[in-house]
Amino acid sequence: MTTTEPQIATPLTGKHLAAEIRRRTTERVAALGTPTKLVVVTATDDESSLWYVRSIAKAAAAVGIDCDIADLGPWASAARIRAVLRDLSQDPSVHGIILQTPLPPGIALADLAGEIDPSKDVDGANPASLGRLAAGQPGFAPATAEAVLALLDHHGVPLEGRNVAVVGRSTVVGTPAALLLLERRATVTVCHSRTADLAAHTSQADVVVVAVGKPGLINAAHVAPGAVVIDVGTTPSDDGSLLGDVDAAEVERVAGALTPVPGGVGPVTTTLLLSHTVDAAERTQSDVREIRT
Ligand code: NAP
Repeated sequence: MTTTEPQIATPLTGKHLAAEIRRRTTERVAALGTPTKLVVVTATDDESSLWYVRSIAKAAAAVGIDCDIADLGPWASAARIRAVLRDLSQDPSVHGIILQTPLPPGIALADLAGEIDPSKDVDGANPASLGRLAAGQPGFAPATAEAVLALLDHHGVPLEGRNVAVVGRSTVVGTPAALLLLERRATVTVCHSRTADLAAHTSQADVVVVAVGKPGLINAAHVAPGAVVIDVGTTPSDDGSLLGDVDAAEVERVAGALTPVPGGVGPVTTTLLLSHTVDAAERTQSDVREIRT
């Protein structure tokens, strides 16, 4: 009797790509010769969010970027957050600004992120940044969406003319990822909570990008044999580990390649935030040079 070995998808890890971006970012910070500064504004006591912010600060320090955390506390008013974002936008010593979520109850990111100067909006949160992305104008895309594309490129996954299903349509991940994929001339289908038959769409795709926040949503029936699957989902489990949206044990027997969670999109996202901050600082320096000449 012969047994057929189950296919095990190639793991598309973000570790090497993140290390490469970190290396280039460190060199660029040193070449600037002046301090590069990122400020993360927080207004929450959510431990996992604060842990993530501390990890950004640590990663920033490792590449030579000064990172301040402006902690406004979980009861900060919209007016206070708005005022802080306005001040930071006008402060010439600040190159990058991130407004961390969650925000206090009743305050939406989109209501405040318009205060972040688009030239410092390193996580593409200002609605103007999303508009620029849609219009094909220069600007910052949300780092997570860009990390999806960076991972696909790093692992040599072709996009032009391929069918890509994006599951999730948030302005933070799904929609900007779909726009970036369209820019690369993929044929993009965007699925969401009201999509009538999710598997009918995803199982036709060469590449599936999942950004929902529901562990196990995508199983073997959702994926075509050999497809590339990018799992953006990160849901904290009871034991403190992170769970993706993909049932990895099932999907890795069908897919050709799959990102791990953690260790896939996440590390690339953080390093891209830092690289965007250096982009902003380099632009400021060249603007100053132009004014002087
Ligand atoms: P979000 O704002 O809650 O959006 C979730 C999206 O999923 C919505 O568009 C929603 O559809 C859709 N959805 C919900 N249930 C669905 C279902 N059963 N079938 C298909 N679509 C469904 O979340 P987000 O901010 O985009 O984040 C998504 C996930 O990515 C989360 O796990 C988050 O933690 C993770 N994330 C990871 C990183 C990273 O660096 N790795 C960064 C950011 C976010 P509707 O629009 O119709 O409601």
